[in-house]
Order: sequence, then structure tokens, then C-alpha cells
Amino acid sequence: MRNARDRLWLVWLASGVVATAGYLMMPYGELHTELVYAAVGLVSALVIVASVRRYRPVRPAMWYWFAAGTATWVLGDLTWSYHVYVLETEPFPSLADVFYLAAYPMLMTGLLMLVRRQGRHLAGLIDAGVIATGVGLVFWSFVMRPIAYDASTDLLARAINLAYPAADVLMLTLLARLLVTAGRRAAAGWLLVSAVVLVLGSDVAFSVVSTYFSYEGGLVDIGWLLSYVVWAAAAMHPSMRELSFPPADRTAPRLTGRRLAALTASSLLAPAVLLIQGATNPAEVDWLGVGVGAVVLFLLVVTRMTGLTFQVQRQAWQLSGLAMQDDLTGLPNRRMLQRRIHAVIGRPSQIALLDLDNFKQVNDLLGHTVGDALIQAVARRLVAATRPGDTVARIGGDEFALLLPDTTEAVGDAVLNRIVALLQQPVVADRHQLLVQASIGVADAYGTGDPLEVLRRADVAMYVAKNAGGNRHARFRPEMDAHNTESARLGAALRQALDDSQFALLYQPIVTLPSGRAVAAEALLRWHHPQLGVIEPLEFIPVAERNGLIVPIGAWVLKEACRQAAQWRRELGAAAPERVAVNVSARQLAEPDFPRLVAEVLADSGLPPESLVVEVTETAVFNGGRALHAVREIHGLGVKIALDDFGTGHSSLGLLNTCPVDILKVDRSFIEDITTGGRSAVIVSALINISDGLDIVMVAEGVETGEQARRLYQLGCRLAQGYHFGRPAPAEALPARFARADQVASA
Ligand code: C2E
Ligand code: CA
Ligand code: CA
Repeated sequence: MRNARDRLWLVWLASGVVATAGYLMMPYGELHTELVYAAVGLVSALVIVASVRRYRPVRPAMWYWFAAGTATWVLGDLTWSYHVYVLETEPFPSLADVFYLAAYPMLMTGLLMLVRRQGRHLAGLIDAGVIATGVGLVFWSFVMRPIAYDASTDLLARAINLAYPAADVLMLTLLARLLVTAGRRAAAGWLLVSAVVLVLGSDVAFSVVSTYFSYEGGLVDIGWLLSYVVWAAAAMHPSMRELSFPPADRTAPRLTGRRLAALTASSLLAPAVLLIQGATNPAEVDWLGVGVGAVVLFLLVVTRMTGLTFQVQRQAWQLSGLAMQDDLTGLPNRRMLQRRIHAVIGRPSQIALLDLDNFKQVNDLLGHTVGDALIQAVARRLVAATRPGDTVARIGGDEFALLLPDTTEAVGDAVLNRIVALLQQPVVADRHQLLVQASIGVADAYGTGDPLEVLRRADVAMYVAKNAGGNRHARFRPEMDAHNTESARLGAALRQALDDSQFALLYQPIVTLPSGRAVAAEALLRWHHPQLGVIEPLEFIPVAERNGLIVPIGAWVLKEACRQAAQWRRELGAAAPERVAVNVSARQLAEPDFPRLVAEVLADSGLPPESLVVEVTETAVFNGGRALHAVREIHGLGVKIALDDFGTGHSSLGLLNTCPVDILKVDRSFIEDITTGGRSAVIVSALINISDGLDIVMVAEGVETGEQARRLYQLGCRLAQGYHFGRPAPAEALPARFARADQVASA
């Protein structure tokens, strides 16, 4: 049913063609024949109005203008018939011309509305202009000009005779504009175009016939008659609603082959007119009209080509920009960086590679959105920390590069120090407060002629910085190449070490002040390498953290320390250390199974949970997520948590609220100069106050002299650890220390 109604327009079109054929067969020049003609026009106008009612397009105005135009034409037809058949005169000009000419602006208003919704592209306007100028020139030369210079008719008649082709040229311009639009056209659109073509065709045929021959009606009329029918058919087509909306593709029209052919042909119309006029009647060559037309065409084409050239240049520029830029941050990418390094090579310039230390963790735990936001924030900071001529590039996931042209080592180091400090401020990324740390390697571009070699050197230095614990910068030195392969060898040897049990634990006492009585011990890892001898943790733990071996190594440390602590409790009773502390890396905390491992080890060893201390660093837990969660779980088991090296990282007191902390270990660097007064003493005494208030125990690390111990005691510190009280020693040596602890304090 719906389908049948949707095809009503076809029925209408077919009936219209039949009616037109019928009109042709009726006797020409009779009133009733003309009334049939007018009736078809009138019904068409009514059909348009009815269709608007039926389809309710969003913008009906255009259709009402079409209906009004059609109806006005019918009025013209009726007026003319009244003159000829009733008054039996053929006046020119007459009231009929007023109606006919009035209809054009109405129809053109509707068409203009249709054209408008296609958007305004200069290119489309120019294309339409070229076609209209070319065809208009032909119109002018062969239709309008003879009328304009026809001395046999009076001025009013000439003006009206000129008004018709002039209106046609305007309508043609609109038609050209409609046709040069990019994209698919709705069927209703095609029907409208056909109707306009029919009107224009008939008008031209009429003008030509009446200028060069004498017009006797008939065939030309059927074009006009059909145009009524087709115009109404457009309104009846279901797709008429779509004409209210802009076409899907509103981009500027592309210069397709067909369009180019149409534009070329239109441009060639000017010389063509000249040739025809020159060949047929050299005296009548319209040099003014053709000259003006040719100039206008030339200017239009030049404008169009200039636009095209600019467009191509702009696109080429955009493309090269995209190829040289990082999408996420808008910074130059690796390709651009290499170009710029190339430009400064041989001059004293610094090239630095920067790698975020814990980015993978952030990305894994908090998701890519947070990771992306973090990268963008870091990019902004880097740009802020560098100087105007410097380049900040993003060359990988969490890798940045800095090019500091014409910069000495000293100035370069100053810039990098500033960056390390600036990055230490927490970054707010997607509502998370994050602590970023970076390892930076820097190389001098002066030493080599090869950008890739400079980048490689910076990369080697960057790994040295990372292996040294990150959050610092290292400058490339030739021996690093050797060191680098060494650290790779170290990584492999670590694997072997685990299998061959080359690890051992030393224990360092933690004492009370002022007595110096040992109350606890910290387990510190040593590696007994078969060839290299004892290797310190600072040398191999960063390597183990990087290759992940810290996870099984750390598990061994935990088991061994708990086993030893439980053994002391059995053997020494009340003289055993109350607590044993174990260092745990961020990498271990990130392991989902870590809290379960702690629970298992405690159960296996029989050590009460409160006798175990897990030492974590600020940076490991600062970013929250899995690590903080693990610490809370472990704390939930009854295990004590110590915040290690406090003061070297971000020193966030806020962390004491989110993270369950029992013990605060103040870093050695604050203890070193505690006896000279000044800042360190103030900070330590403030930390003691805060700890007391939060019910946290403070331990002073790295106490090397009796003077430091006394000063700490004066400040209110009650627990300490350091060479002054005892160096890290094998488990066997510990019971003796616990026994003679009292003597130390009195020393
Ligand atoms: P830490 O946790 O801060 O451990 C204290 C470090 O300071 C130890 O170095 C210790 O020997 C040293 N120390 C103690 N008293 C003094 C002193 O009076 N003066 C000076 N200058 N140093 C003192 P060690 O054993 O070389 O360990 C270095 C770091 O390696 C540790 O720092 C810890 O972060 C890490 N580490 C050690 N064992 C383990 C472990 O089993 N697992 C993990 N993940 N890290 C460990
Ligand atoms: Ca520690
Ligand atoms: Ca420490």
C-alpha cells in the first residue's frame, strides 16, 4: 500500500506525458485547447501544494515558491488566451508578460533556497560562474544582442524581449550551481533539474525561433507544458523531503574529469562565438561582448586555479607536518628529531633521552587514558623546562628526547637537573595524582658526525641512569659501552645465581636510643659471585628489577628472613630481635600474588605477623593502584609496614594518610649533617613530631657517629640504625650483638 502511494509520482508523470500528447493532437489555436494547457499547469501548482502537505518537508518555503511561480505562469497563459480568443488582439507587451516575467523571480527564489543548503564553496561558485558566463555569452551574442540592437521595435518592447533571455541566464546560473555540487542527488533533485532544463530549453527554442524565424506556436509549447508536469512530479516524489537537508557530502567539489571538460568547454565558448561571428559576418563581430566575456572567464579560471594551487600546497604542508609530529602530544617525532640533530651535528650541542621509570606500571594499573594524560602532562613540563631554541620530541611510548643546540655540558646538565626536579612534582593525570620519575641519558653531539650514533650514546647513558635506580641523569662516557654489556652479562648471571643459591642475607641491628640495645634487624641481600666475589645490592638489584628476577629473588629473601627470625625466636627466646625487616621492591608489590606469598611464608615459618616488617619506598606506593592495595592487604595480615628512605623521594606527608605506615625510616642524607645544625636538624625534629602525632615510630638511618646518636636522642628520636651500632653481618654474628648491645651506647 505504502509502495503504491510512493509511486504516485510516476502515475502523475505518465498522465502528464499522455496529456501533453493529447494537447499536441488537439487543434492548435482553439480556446478549449488552451484551456487544457492552463488546466495542466494549474493542477501542477495544486499538486505541489498538496505534496508539501503530504510529506511535510522541514523547509517547505522552497516548494511554495515553485507552486507560486507555476501558478503565476498559468495566470500569464490565461491572460494571453483571454487577449487572443476573447478580445481577439495580440498586444505586445501585455499583462501576460507581466505575469510571465513575475514568475521567474519566484521560481529562482525557490531554486536559490535549494542551492543555499549545499553550503558555500568558492570553488563551486566559480565553476557555476564559468559555465554561466560561457553560456551567457552565447545567449548574449545570438539572442539578446540582436534584440537589443533591433531598431524596428520600440524601447519597451525591446526591454521586455531582453528580460526573458536575461531571466534565463540567471536561471541557468542557478542550474549550473545546482549541477556542480559534489555528491549524490536525490531523485526529486533530478526531477527539478529536468524541469528547469525543460523551461530553459523551451525559452531558448522560442527566442531563437522568434528572432531568426517567425514563431507559429505548437512544438515549443510542449516543453513548457512538460515542465509544469515534471516540476509537480518532483514535489510528489518521496525523496522531496531530503531536499530540505544539506547533502551528506558538503565538501568542496573535486575537479573530476567531467567537471574539467565542462569548464574547458565553457571557457572555449568565447573564442567559439568570435569564430562563428567572424566566419559568418565579419562586420558584425561583437568585440565588446566577447572581450568582456573572455576577460571574466579568464579571471574566474585564474581564481579557481590559484585556489587549487593553494589547496594542494596546504595539504602537502599538512601532510609533512603529520609525518613529523607525534599525535598524542603534538611534539616533533623521531624523524623530525633526527633531522634537527643532523642540522646541529658538529656544533657543541647536547642530546638527551628521557625514559619514564614507572610508566608501564601506570598504564597497566590505571589504564591507557590515564597513561595518555600522563604523557601529555610530562610533554608540557618538558616544554616548560626547556629554552626557546630547544627541541622536545616524543620518540616512543614513554620516551622523550631533548635537543639542546649550542649548549655546553655544564649548561646542559643544569637544564637536565631542572627537568629532574620539575618532574618530581606530582602530575595530575585524569584526576589521579601521580609521581613521575625519569631516567635521562645525555650525550654530546660534538663527538660524532652521525645522528644515530649520538642517539645510541644517549640511550646507553639513559640505561646507566636507570640501572642506578632511575630519577636521575647520566652523561655518556666511553667506558659505559663496556659497562652496558656488563650489565647484560650481570642479568644473565643473576639467573644462574638464583639456581645455584649464590645469595645470602646479612642482618643489621636497629637499636633503641640512648641505650643502644638492639631490638630489631634489617635483612640486607648479598650476592656471592663465584668469580667476582661479593656484589652489593645497589649494583645488581636495579638489574634484577629491570629483568623481573627481583620477584623470585625477593621471594627467597622473604622466606629466608622469616625462617631465620623464627629460628632466633626459638633459640634465643626473649633475647631474639622483636622484628625482622625485609626490603620489598615496587615490582614485587605489583605482583598480584604477593600478599598471598607473605601469608604463606608466615604460616610456613611460624613467625607471628607482627614480627615481620615490610620496607617499601615512597615511590613504590605513591601512585596508588595495585602496589598500595598490596600494602594494605599485607598490613591487614598484621605485618608492620615501614616507609624506607623517607625524604629522598617525594616526601609526601599525605601518603601517611592513604598508606598504612607503622615505621618511618628517615634517610641517611638527613642524618649526615645533623650535628652541624641547620636544615636537617629542623626537618628531623619536625618528622619526629609528626610521627609521634600519627603514632608512627621513626627510625634514623645511617647513624655513623656517637655524636649523631646523641643529637638524635636530644631531638626526640628513639630508634636508630647505622655503622655506629653495627654493620650488616651474617646471621651467626647477630646473637652476640644483641647480647652486648648495652656496651655500645655507653661507648
Ligand atoms: P636500604 O634499605 O636503605 O638499606 C640500608 C643500606 O644502608 C644498606 O646498604 C646498609 O648497609 C647501608 N648502611 C647502614 N648503615 C649505614 C651507615 O651508617 N652508613 C652508610 N653509609 N651506609 C649504611 P646495602 O646493604 O648496600 O643495601 C642497599 C640497598 O639495597 C638497600 O637500602 C635496599 O634498598 C636495597 N636492598 C638490600 N637488600 C635488599 C633486598 O633483599 N631486596 C630488595 N628489594 N632491596 C634490597
Ligand atoms: Ca631498607
Ligand atoms: Ca633506607
